Amino acid sequence: VRHHPQDGPILTICTALEIEARAVRRSLPNARILVMGMGGRRLSREMNSVAGPVVVAGFCGALDPELASGDVIVATEVRGPTGTTPCPAAPLLVAALRSVGVHATTGPIVTAGHIVDGEEREALAATGAIGVDMESADVAELAAGHPFAAVRVVVDSPRRGLFRPSLLTDGLRALRVLHTVAEALDAWSAALGDREVVLAGPRSFCAGVERAIEIVERALERNGPPVYVRKQIVHNAHVVRRLEQLGAVFVDELDEVPTGATVVFSAHGVSPQVRADANRRQLDIIDATCPLVAKVHAEARRFAGRGDTVVLIGHSGHEEVEGTLGEAPDNTRLVGTVADVERLEVADPDRVSYVMQTTLAVDEAADVVAALRERFPRVAGPSSDDICYATTNRQDAVRAVITDADLLLVVGSTNSSNSMRLVEIAERAGLAAYLVDDASRINPEWLAGRRMIALTAGASAPQDLVDEVVAALGGLGRVRVSEHWVATETLSFTLPKEVV
Ligand code: SF4
Repeated sequence: VRHHPQDGPILTICTALEIEARAVRRSLPNARILVMGMGGRRLSREMNSVAGPVVVAGFCGALDPELASGDVIVATEVRGPTGTTPCPAAPLLVAALRSVGVHATTGPIVTAGHIVDGEEREALAATGAIGVDMESADVAELAAGHPFAAVRVVVDSPRRGLFRPSLLTDGLRALRVLHTVAEALDAWSAALGDREVVLAGPRSFCAGVERAIEIVERALERNGPPVYVRKQIVHNAHVVRRLEQLGAVFVDELDEVPTGATVVFSAHGVSPQVRADANRRQLDIIDATCPLVAKVHAEARRFAGRGDTVVLIGHSGHEEVEGTLGEAPDNTRLVGTVADVERLEVADPDRVSYVMQTTLAVDEAADVVAALRERFPRVAGPSSDDICYATTNRQDAVRAVITDADLLLVVGSTNSSNSMRLVEIAERAGLAAYLVDDASRINPEWLAGRRMIALTAGASAPQDLVDEVVAALGGLGRVRVSEHWVATETLSFTLPKEVV
């Protein structure tokens, strides 16, 4: 599918060689292809008339020894003798490449005015650059003020230098890869253009997530690695990866933790059974359960203790729900929908109470509570809503920012319940919405023709990932950013005594 509107910006593709130009031309019929010559000999003459987005595409040498011929590099920045040009839209190019089956490696590309090998290659690798070419930095300079990207297919590497018998076959393979790269460039270029971004506020970390992350960081500081964490400390892939790099070891079950080691319970809470198992195995427990989840556990215990059937409104299989169910497994019934309430069987309809998962959709939970009241008029509930302040605020903020938007992007991981609910709010309002772990998961096709983007992040997603998305959109054209706040959050929770 080609998306290019006739009035859209014209993309210029710069290649060094005619053979590279031929590999990309067929997939990019609307682009202007400039063959600039090796080292950009014809560059300044040809680029005089460029007044739009520019991409350098073609072959390069790898500096990273892990890269082999045929691998694809997308530049996060290009470095030349007179300076460095950032390439903020690189993550979106990575996403476009992924959608045509190409895995790209991202990193700096350095431009040398000649072919490099041997010691010079090693010296450039030591600077952190992963690829070397002869033109990108010069093109970037001439394209200043316009969206710019550089994508290169490796032909030679530290392990396989340029002058080798297999160069011809490897070169042909690299050409085929370059042809596929051009398909991705076509999808990526459809997303080019100026945009407005409206940030929902509040967004990103809540007090319970901040506390849980700080607990693991402090445990690592005090005890040194490894610190074991049962389940993901919060449901975010980036947070988990960062803590793993610091020495946290995430396990699914306690039998993976050596006897006597320190174990952190995640923000979602655990059942009393898990707590008892940890004690039996003489583990040092540090409990990062969010106090607002602990409050729901206490309610469930209180209701069950007085002989009620406890109806837990929540999503089956979610870790928080498993923990709460474990407080009174024999007396608790899990419901997720109004239909579940209609099927519910209880011992005594006059002795029913309910509690909730903290991250439900506010309006859907209200429907389920209304159905419970209808069936069990004497049903008792918590004194205040179990859906936490952070969930409520983020949902209100999304409702406020989607009114004029063409698209909602939610930064968060797929196992994050509160993030999923934010996507659903937009979908119920008839707006396209996507949950993305980071900017490299935004399919550029979603952006084609969409100028007003609403942006938020779930309670477990770091703000810097939101900044990365804004920067990536800014790599496609000018971006005007505004924020719409519906509440101010000042809540913070004290840390457990084991880490203070
Ligand atoms: S989303 Fe709510 S319940 Fe969950 S950790 Fe954050 S504040 Fe606590």
